[in-house]
Amino acid sequence: MLKILGKIGLLVAALAVSAVWLVVLRLKDVPLPLLAAYGLLLVGLVAGLLWPGVLGRASTRRRVLAFLGVPVGLGTLGLYLAVVYYVTDLPVLLALAAAGCLAWAATTVLHGHRAASQTRRAFLTGGAGLVLGVLSGLSVSWVERHRRDALTRSDQPRQAAMRAEGKRSRIADGTVRVFPIHTGDTIVTYGQFYGGLDGWEGLNGYLRTLVDKTQIAVPVYAYLIDHPRHGPMLVDTGVNWEQAHDHDGYYDHNHMVSRLLTQRDEYQMAPEQDLRVHLARLGYDAKEITTVFLTHVHDDHAGGLRYLPRASVVMDRRDWEQGVLYPYSFDLVKDNLSFPAFTSGPFGAFPAGQDHFGDGSLILLPIPGHSPGHMSVLLRLETGSVLFMGDTLYTLPHLATDQVRQTTIGGADTVHQMEAARRIQNLLAADPRTVPLFAHDNTRYQSELVAAAFAQGTPGEAGLRELRTHLESVLTPDWRLRPGHAPRFVPPASGTGVGQVEFR
Ligand SMILES: [Zn+2]
Repeated sequence: MLKILGKIGLLVAALAVSAVWLVVLRLKDVPLPLLAAYGLLLVGLVAGLLWPGVLGRASTRRRVLAFLGVPVGLGTLGLYLAVVYYVTDLPVLLALAAAGCLAWAATTVLHGHRAASQTRRAFLTGGAGLVLGVLSGLSVSWVERHRRDALTRSDQPRQAAMRAEGKRSRIADGTVRVFPIHTGDTIVTYGQFYGGLDGWEGLNGYLRTLVDKTQIAVPVYAYLIDHPRHGPMLVDTGVNWEQAHDHDGYYDHNHMVSRLLTQRDEYQMAPEQDLRVHLARLGYDAKEITTVFLTHVHDDHAGGLRYLPRASVVMDRRDWEQGVLYPYSFDLVKDNLSFPAFTSGPFGAFPAGQDHFGDGSLILLPIPGHSPGHMSVLLRLETGSVLFMGDTLYTLPHLATDQVRQTTIGGADTVHQMEAARRIQNLLAADPRTVPLFAHDNTRYQSELVAAAFAQGTPGEAGLRELRTHLESVLTPDWRLRPGHAPRFVPPASGTGVGQVEFR
């Protein structure tokens, strides 16, 4: 009885490991029919190993298990090398092979076989194991050098762009300036982004993001604020060059899992989209950035921190304490963090807020939901206010939260997320001179209207009014989408690759 239970336990564990492995392969674009056949072989092999009696006589058993086992073994190695393998794995693979050889040799010796041929074989395998072990050690530095060289090569156009001299028009009249900084695009599933009301909510939605292939590219924005009294600051930092161009290497610094469960082309970035190139073009140096207001810890907002080791990073303590998924992004700034106390009293629809400089020019608003310590940032201009949304709502149509919703993990998070959306709606409704700025808006609002209004960094009253007029042309006063603005997924023409979003 115990033996049966043990075997069932082993079967469950093997199925779980296989399932994770198949999800990884699916993420790396292995076609579904191939995965299904491979999955069946895996299940057959595991069941055959656990219940060999079912397969009949010993010779039949051996043949059937070899029939299943050989393609599974070769398939695993082949698929690994073809779609998951990364050059930094070389030392690990060599070390595993070395350990296998040494273990084999050790069991032969420990079993006390004294036949000369067996002893010879044990020595040969053990010797091979030692050689492989040495090679594994030697390959570490070789692999590092190879990675650095590849990165340097891909980096040349960016270095050239960074050297190009920018012109900063100085703030003569003492006005605050805001520049949108487009740090490349990220590939997401359409459902994760827009499908929060269509079966994508909760854990189920997150599982679907792992296998669903209806993908779109959305922009990743950070914002530069140049303040006459407080200097140049950033709201979020976007992604960095390594995340986009050395994905596996970058995520190896975090956890192996983060590398396996993200797509290699998760981020796309042209040389001119690099944060430092943007800053140089606008006439700023990364060293000048005194403060980063980080709306939340996610890696598409924190990646640029690696360029700003001197900045003090202001973020909500709850996000930091629940643990960052990508510690490498925070490595250089982790001693420069400061956590607002949110003790400046209520602010409009928000029960608490932090008047960061004590002069009312910049208010931090805690707004948990997208993450436990998410915050939005309200900046006062002479002509109105700008609300940096972070990821509370991804795009302008997301303000119609009962029709368009991004996914949250479900439960309390969804409740917080809804509360957050209502607060944002109330804040915008209470002041017609406040405009929202999003981190991932992929509509005309960002690409045309925000780009035009903030081209010189200082939108006048007319510029802000135009943004609000557009907002009102997309959304009704009770936050519903007007006709012509509901998002819809348009598959890519060729059947593979990234689709588009159409608004109609
Ligand atoms: Zn984001």
